[in-house]
Amino acid sequence: MTKVSQQSRDVPPVAEPPWLRPRALYVHIPFCAHKCGYCDFASIAGADDLADRYLDALDREMRRALKGDRPQVDTIFLGGGTPTRLDARQLDRLLARLRELVDLTPEGEWTVEANPGTLDEEKVRVLAAGGVNRVSLGAQSFQPSALKALERNHDPDDVPRAVDLIRRRFDRWSLDLIFGAPGTTLGQWSADLDRAIGLEPSHLSCYGLVYEKGTSLWKQWNAGAVQAVDEEVEHDMYALTIDRLVDAGLRHYEISNFARPGHESRHNLVYWANDAYYGFGLGATRYVDGVRASNTRDLLAYLRRIERGEEATGPTERLEPEERGRETAVLMLRRLELGIDREDFRRRCGLDLDDLCGESLARSVARGWLIDDGRRLKLSRSGLFLADTVMSDLL
Ligand code: SF4
Repeated sequence: MTKVSQQSRDVPPVAEPPWLRPRALYVHIPFCAHKCGYCDFASIAGADDLADRYLDALDREMRRALKGDRPQVDTIFLGGGTPTRLDARQLDRLLARLRELVDLTPEGEWTVEANPGTLDEEKVRVLAAGGVNRVSLGAQSFQPSALKALERNHDPDDVPRAVDLIRRRFDRWSLDLIFGAPGTTLGQWSADLDRAIGLEPSHLSCYGLVYEKGTSLWKQWNAGAVQAVDEEVEHDMYALTIDRLVDAGLRHYEISNFARPGHESRHNLVYWANDAYYGFGLGATRYVDGVRASNTRDLLAYLRRIERGEEATGPTERLEPEERGRETAVLMLRRLELGIDREDFRRRCGLDLDDLCGESLARSVARGWLIDDGRRLKLSRSGLFLADTVMSDLL
């Protein structure tokens, strides 16, 4: 491992380094109607009676951390869980509190995650009136068999119904899809892409299914009760995704994300630049002043600790400059158009990219997985399919 001095030559100082001062805020709402088979998020079904108490705790946690500063942010993201599992009154209360605690810039992005089946006209009205300007809808699939395998609790027809409600008030909205659910074929995935394109979202996220340890689906797979889709088929599904969505006029701007120009997720771009962000709520991670910390994922522990006036923080780590540099390089490579800009990297990390990981980068360039134009390094088409290998070589 090459040792690199932190602040190397000719680096102009950055007034408010984006890796120290958050310009993005994440708030976690853990409630769900039902626990999906593949879900490893901090999400809980059957605890809706705790929602008001949770909102009180969230309020307390945010006030304590922000200390009355009312910081200006460029993005707010309400994720989960299912934020739209809250009723209209609770959503209204949460949005009002966030407007009070932070100052979203006039051009700022405010996203709420939603699930088909949890949206109605009243909630969509409350979201739009409360300042939300982007909705991310978890469709996952239009195939009844795939939804069943994933243990989702909605029907394919719930998706266009929800989209109809969203489109009336929002220009910016995204669909989440999952490919490679047990038993799905390339033809079914192709049909899913057609249905999604037909709904004309401004943004699409398409993720390959991951069998997360401990989930219901992982247990079934581990016991041999379900078969994972063949690796070659999964490769073809991803290739088809890229070709079909790019043909439909969406830009492939991140490994799993596609958007019409100007409709990229600005909030997620903060994560992929390894910039700082606030994070509040159950299991939420924050990255402030170079320290990454996550809250407990135990709902009752979270509530009790916050109610006692304590922090709900669990694992915490301060990243050393070299570690942060490597992590930043990996995250930046996820951005297909931006990649890693050597000068930008030097400004943000105070390190020379080639001193830090030049040998690993050169290996991937030689194999045709990375393209180096002298200024930027980006994943090539073949590198997209081997992104995990390219990235793990950098760490
Ligand atoms: S709706 Fe989302 S967060 Fe809730 S259980 Fe399903 S996958 Fe997890």
